[in-house]
Amino acid sequence: RAKELGGRRVEVFATHMHADVLRRLEIASDLQRALLENQFAIEYQPVVDLATSQVTAVEALVRWWRGSTFVPPEQFLGPAEDTGIIVPLSEWILREACREVAAWRASSWDIGLALNLSARQIMAPRFVETVAEALSESGLPASKLTLEVIEEMLVEDAGEMISRLSELRTLGVRLAIDDFGTGYASLAFLRQLPVDMIKIDPSFVSGLGRDDTLTLLTKTIVQLGNDLGLIVVAEGIERPEQLDLLRKMGCTRGQGYLVARPMTARGVDSLMPSTTLQNTA
Ligand code: C2E
Ligand code: MG
Ligand code: MG
Ligand code: MG
Repeated sequence: RAKELGGRRVEVFATHMHADVLRRLEIASDLQRALLENQFAIEYQPVVDLATSQVTAVEALVRWWRGSTFVPPEQFLGPAEDTGIIVPLSEWILREACREVAAWRASSWDIGLALNLSARQIMAPRFVETVAEALSESGLPASKLTLEVIEEMLVEDAGEMISRLSELRTLGVRLAIDDFGTGYASLAFLRQLPVDMIKIDPSFVSGLGRDDTLTLLTKTIVQLGNDLGLIVVAEGIERPEQLDLLRKMGCTRGQGYLVARPMTARGVDSLMPSTTLQNTA
């Protein structure tokens, strides 16, 4: 009887495992095909200077249109990382985004590019060389590229990762900590890292003016960043009240639906300051 039950349990487990393996294989081959068939696209979300409202940079965000179905990044980035497809995918995003931002800059628009990095991408062979190549091929100045990492990537056994990022920083590339405040690295770690910028997570910004604790925490992070000489970007600004408070707190830059949604490259074209046209007229 016990054997019977045990046997059945094994069978149930095996069936689950089978389904899981199949699902992973399926998403892996889907991602591979998506890459070959150019199903990926890039959207750009503007980042603005809160004092002047001018666009200082655009953040590249990957998009996957699987046929007519939009698959959100949270759904495929994990599998892409597990299967290693993140490496060629990220390289395409890097080269394409550098090229597009360099083209905007060629119309005398002084904007930068922010890119999200994945751990596997950083650890891939030739990561540093690939970034250097993307810069030289596109003509984008290193100082106009900001690479975003999350705290988790820099905590444990991150020696090699930090040394690769430091190497890029030596080339003039800027580094940002994304989703700041949600990880473990936070305060003490900031002093040891070669970081130029922190991006405050929307979970803080969302509470601005509505929740005393979140408002105080946001204010503290802004102050800390300013005191350390870092650029502080607030993410997820959706309400005018948040924008107001962030300006008063001395936050440097902002990003969010209220300011601008992620958009296609054509959308970014239409944001180009008209002074460019006056210059050439
Ligand atoms: P992230 O880097 O923190 O990017 C900001 C996310 O917040 C984006 O979601 C953006 O669309 C969304 N967002 C911007 N403003 C607002 C707002 O006002 N309200 C709300 N509710 N959301 C806002 P998205 O595009 O879905 O990307 C999610 C995450 O996926 C990104 O978070 C980033 O960690 C990752 N990701 C996106 N593109 C790439 C990529 O090319 N490579 C890598 N490695 N990761 C990427
Ligand atoms: Mg980001
Ligand atoms: Mg973020
Ligand atoms: Mg995020």
